[in-house]
Amino acid sequence: MDLYSLTLREAGELLAKKQVSSLELTSATLEHIHRTDASIRAFVTVSDETALAQARQADERRRRGEMVTPLTGIPFAVKDCISTKGVRTTCSSRILENYLPPYNATVIARLAEAGAVLIGKHNMDEFGMGSSCENSAFFNTHNPWDLERVPGGSSGGSAAAVAARMGTFALGEDTGGSIRMPAGFCNVTGLKTTYGRVSRYGLIALVSSFDSIGPMAQDAYDCASVLQVIAGKDPHDATSLSAPVPDYLKDITQPVKGFRVGIPKEYFQAGMEAGVESSIREAIRKLGELGMEIQEVSLPHTKYGLPVYYLILFAEASANLARFDGTRFGLSVSEGAENVIDLYLQTRREGFGAEVRRRIMLGAYVLSAGYYDAYYLKAQKVRTLLRQDFENAFEKVDVLVAPTCPTTAFKLGEKTADPLAMYLSDIYVVATNPAGVPALSVPCGFSNGMPVGMQLIGKHLSEDLLLRLGHAYQSVTDWHKMRPGMIQ
Ligand code: GLN
Repeated sequence: MDLYSLTLREAGELLAKKQVSSLELTSATLEHIHRTDASIRAFVTVSDETALAQARQADERRRRGEMVTPLTGIPFAVKDCISTKGVRTTCSSRILENYLPPYNATVIARLAEAGAVLIGKHNMDEFGMGSSCENSAFFNTHNPWDLERVPGGSSGGSAAAVAARMGTFALGEDTGGSIRMPAGFCNVTGLKTTYGRVSRYGLIALVSSFDSIGPMAQDAYDCASVLQVIAGKDPHDATSLSAPVPDYLKDITQPVKGFRVGIPKEYFQAGMEAGVESSIREAIRKLGELGMEIQEVSLPHTKYGLPVYYLILFAEASANLARFDGTRFGLSVSEGAENVIDLYLQTRREGFGAEVRRRIMLGAYVLSAGYYDAYYLKAQKVRTLLRQDFENAFEKVDVLVAPTCPTTAFKLGEKTADPLAMYLSDIYVVATNPAGVPALSVPCGFSNGMPVGMQLIGKHLSEDLLLRLGHAYQSVTDWHKMRPGMIQ
């Protein structure tokens, strides 16, 4: 098998036995990217030189037997909203096109400490706003399963890269589905972590009360290995949780008999692609075969999930993006400006794309006097109801199972003219973020030749259980092992 297509676990074993070096693994991955990414376009930046230097350092660590971890020497890349010191971090926006962060995000610092090798930065919807990667200011990313289709969004570059085996794992960011939805569209495994489980320091904020960083990889086992390194309290992020980080691999192979699975009836409504529904039903049957107890549950406020999510998103995003004004970071369009207001307006007009401007305007609107109570405050109240829906369900069951998306990957251009149709594709992934709960998307079949994702949603800090259930499912199915035709 080609070195670049190994799982993290397989590559780690070869590295540990010294049957392969990180330099060989990293070089093979970079060569594969340079051959393959011309048609997929998952990367905004590929950092060959720093990657090779880090690979040599990893090999040196291993030679000396110093600070060797399961991630030492493993090549990875991250969504381009995660700050990397000295490596361009763009959020796929013109406004940050040439921005070089002066520091590393905590997740990057922790992975570097573990000896993992950063190979580049992934394309995304501008500032994380989108469900197809078509809102990138630079170029579209293509789904490796069908180049005419989208990879999903907003971590579309990360999902496409992992699906095409361009990097052993990735870090994505999920504000309202951005890890899970593209994972589902591209046949990879992606974990949205509990809010606060992973430090957001150095993550360029979209919605500060929703954003969570998480791993994307070939399987749940690999996601567990990555989470182990990035999880935990960070003095730089006051919202990071101090709850102890469990050993995510300790019980991952344990049986799952007796766990209670809830099927939220509101997540199986008209409009779902037939092949998606049959794949999910079949997967639920498999969970039953593994000894899990299946029952129907209700999340009665589900229909408010999308409006609550988008209203709060508009408000927080418009506030967060106010910092990009031409005086501090990135682009500054000063030509012809007579005063500082002109500078702000020119920079923001040129620097932000249409979707970002739309959301900033909507955010300013829902926060303005007279509308604040009607929209923003109301949304925050209904957010509590969404959270209570999950709390009530988790009194009866250990995990909820649902489709990740009502359809498989759609065609490039199919929804770009209709923002509402685009927002609707997020229907099953947005309620978790206002509630802060974790969710794992695992491959569970195909519909019309395109991958289908299944979501396992758990209570706060139940990542260990989600990964264990995901691993159990992946031990009796092969969906996650299937690779797109172009990567055989
Ligand atoms: N589709 C969501 C949106 O457009 C994704 C946001 C995210 O998770 N970054 O807001």
